[in-house]
Amino acid sequence: MPDGAPPRPAARAAPAAPPRRAGPARTLRDAAALVRAGLVAPEAEGAIARVAERYAIAVTPAVRALIAPADPADPIARQYVPHPEELATAPWEVSDPTADGPHSPVKGVVHRYPDRALLKPLLACPVYCRFCFRREVVGPEGGLLGEAELEAALDWFARTPAVREAILTGGDPLMLSPRRLGRILARLGAMAHIEVLRIHSRVPVADPERVTAALAEVLGGAGKPLFLCVHANHAREFSPAAGAALGRLAAAGVALLGQSVLLRGVNDSVEALEALFRAMLRHRVKPYYLHQLDRAPGTARFEVPVEEGRALLRALRGRVSGLAWPTYVQETPGGGGKVPLGPAFEAPAPGGG
Ligand SMILES: *Cc1c(COP(=O)(O)O)cnc(C)c1O
Ligand code: SF4
Repeated sequence: MPDGAPPRPAARAAPAAPPRRAGPARTLRDAAALVRAGLVAPEAEGAIARVAERYAIAVTPAVRALIAPADPADPIARQYVPHPEELATAPWEVSDPTADGPHSPVKGVVHRYPDRALLKPLLACPVYCRFCFRREVVGPEGGLLGEAELEAALDWFARTPAVREAILTGGDPLMLSPRRLGRILARLGAMAHIEVLRIHSRVPVADPERVTAALAEVLGGAGKPLFLCVHANHAREFSPAAGAALGRLAAAGVALLGQSVLLRGVNDSVEALEALFRAMLRHRVKPYYLHQLDRAPGTARFEVPVEEGRALLRALRGRVSGLAWPTYVQETPGGGGKVPLGPAFEAPAPGGG
């Protein structure tokens, strides 16, 4: 591995491509499938296969349908289709940018702030984003907590009364079956000190068919207020199917928030951010966070400098509703938590005028 990056666990090696079958479209999971779908040039297959040995790949049929393959700068493809530059790790890039490891009291739990804690029931996602800060640990075969581990994690929440909010993340918690997810939410919701439940997910935009009536019912019926924070970075991710999924969630009583990452070539213009946040509001999603990119290995092509991010937000202020305005935040490398990045504005001169 170049640049001292840790070797991937052997289990990351992509499984042999399944035989092609007629029938419903399937998630694309390796270089050959991406070439067949016209998303990767045949001459790049070898390099992409090497990326696949290190980082998981998944492009769902819903995402595939949003990509314009003829556009080399397509902002949807850029988020999900692997690129040979992922093989290069820049000197400043680190493996665990948010430093979750030292804040984990039991497996699957991260506790950094007194009143809230993360529960990661699994590390699989519907898609694998090329800029993901957890890219070295997420993957289709990874991280499902066993029964005993899940019990230990729930037991930690039960005996930690300072925690008022349980935040399910991963991986993507909506990859669990509605039954299993429902059991976890019911257990957390039954704890007197847990006031709020939160789930971070890309499923409503990346694999909206997973948001079935059964899943919406489980989320709406958790017994405590549930906030679903939807990860989306481009207005086009709000397809009609995604809109229907979000509508089912809203109808079930789920409060919807949006989180985005500021990404070069995806949403690094005032127009793209405005369209993204307006699309969120049209779907009852309140933009919550705009994240500065975490410097995970092989993600340098996505970085937008903080000063540029501040200038973009400054240009947005006044141009869009306050409802459309997210907090621009950055994780402190080393585990210090999230820091708002501004921009700062001058106080109006006293006395008006
Ligand atoms: C981001 C994060 C949270 C949630 O932070 P909010 O600012 O409340 O959204 C909680 N715990 C950890 C460890 C986090 O990284
Ligand atoms: S869905 Fe979230 S956790 Fe999964 S790859 Fe994308 S950014 Fe990472």
